[in-house]
Amino acid sequence: MTIVISNAVIATGDDKDSVHYGAAIAIEGDKIAAIGANEEIAAKYPAAETIDGSGKLVMPGFANIHTHLTMTMARGVFEDLSPSHKPPFTGGLSPIPLPDMTPDERRAMAELGALEAMRSGTTLMLEDSNNIDHYAGALAESGLRFLFGERAYDRTGTSIGDPGPLTIDRALGQRHMQTIERNFRDWDGKADGRVHICISAWAPDMCSPELLKDLSALQRKLDTRITIHLNQIWGEVAAIKAHYNRLPSEYLADLDFLNDKVICAHARCMTPEEEKILGKARVNVSFNAAIAARRGLSPRIADLESYGCNVGMGSDNMAEDMVEVLRTGLFMERIRREDGRSPTPEQALRWATRNGYQALGVPNAGWLEAGTKADMIVIDLQRAHLIPMLRAVSNFVHNGQARDVEGVMVDGKWTMRAGKVLTMDEPGIIARAQKTANECWSRLFRKRFDLKVPAGFSPHALP
Ligand SMILES: [Zn+2]
Repeated sequence: MTIVISNAVIATGDDKDSVHYGAAIAIEGDKIAAIGANEEIAAKYPAAETIDGSGKLVMPGFANIHTHLTMTMARGVFEDLSPSHKPPFTGGLSPIPLPDMTPDERRAMAELGALEAMRSGTTLMLEDSNNIDHYAGALAESGLRFLFGERAYDRTGTSIGDPGPLTIDRALGQRHMQTIERNFRDWDGKADGRVHICISAWAPDMCSPELLKDLSALQRKLDTRITIHLNQIWGEVAAIKAHYNRLPSEYLADLDFLNDKVICAHARCMTPEEEKILGKARVNVSFNAAIAARRGLSPRIADLESYGCNVGMGSDNMAEDMVEVLRTGLFMERIRREDGRSPTPEQALRWATRNGYQALGVPNAGWLEAGTKADMIVIDLQRAHLIPMLRAVSNFVHNGQARDVEGVMVDGKWTMRAGKVLTMDEPGIIARAQKTANECWSRLFRKRFDLKVPAGFSPHALP
């Protein structure tokens, strides 16, 4: 079946950042077949289902290359509880733990995150977590594209950013390795090839050097991606210095962990020498701009790119809104560079689309051109904040909102159309997630008298 969207604004994200106004795009099967003048495309595909794209912008879907969907549980709570950037470091990304969740509860929160991701125009994401099989099936049914990173670690009794003593449980790391291999067997290449499995090494200070070597060998054996939180917070840097007398990126390089299939999330608490190490190994960096801004930290993206890293974007925790991530990234880099012209909106959009697809190993995808994958979104331009439409990419990057996304297509199939989500039960997911969060937080605070309830918090705010 062929679909033609005619008379639309088409921002391609191709090598020349071409934008077509009043043009048509044809989709055949899972690929873009052609982009061109309305009459030309109509003549070429006379039997196609034709959709009037007047007043719409068609552009590539977003690739979120670092997220934890079940952490939507901590929305409105963890954003203001970041660890200190100065010693003493005690470990953890928040003084309050994430409540324990049953597999059903995890699935409820993961579905909420995926729904928000779709509504903000995300077509591909790397979801990093433990026991991905609790919700891989439910997420695959959303029709979105996933790279699931099953997580491994073998340091116990603490969390990221703790320079205190190391307690290593090698058997735990081996069990995680087995789960990765099992999930790879069960899920890699499933859902018409939309689902793949990669490895997540939690963080340099949460894995023994032996486990990091084992995971790196497994990455090469399975020929898949591997992701790691790297140079995320200053406590992590202190922990690696304390135990290995070097910096986190140096530590990974010395273990021969770094290569062009590695996705390093954050890369912000680091020296220029470490940036050069990452660039030399051609690693992919996830610029998690929105969470970085909330934590008061910023990576040096221009430098990482100039040294050879491929920069993509990720949402990380609590929110899955890639429109917000995209704009925050542009703003952060302009402030850091003290340059109101750099990066350009086209460069920022490339981080959030094409570079992300490259990072996650999806070939010929992330931009719109004959032969690329039909992973794209439709934006409703008939909005006060998007008119006048004169310069499509800049207008959307500076002014667009997640709610402007009215269509999402993955592999040539609509998952959302005319503002309606087709593949997920939206009201059911929203109701289930609120109920789940009420129950999980109530359980945690009933059990843990020692925890300080954050200002304005109620686990019964909504039924
Ligand atoms: Zn993360």
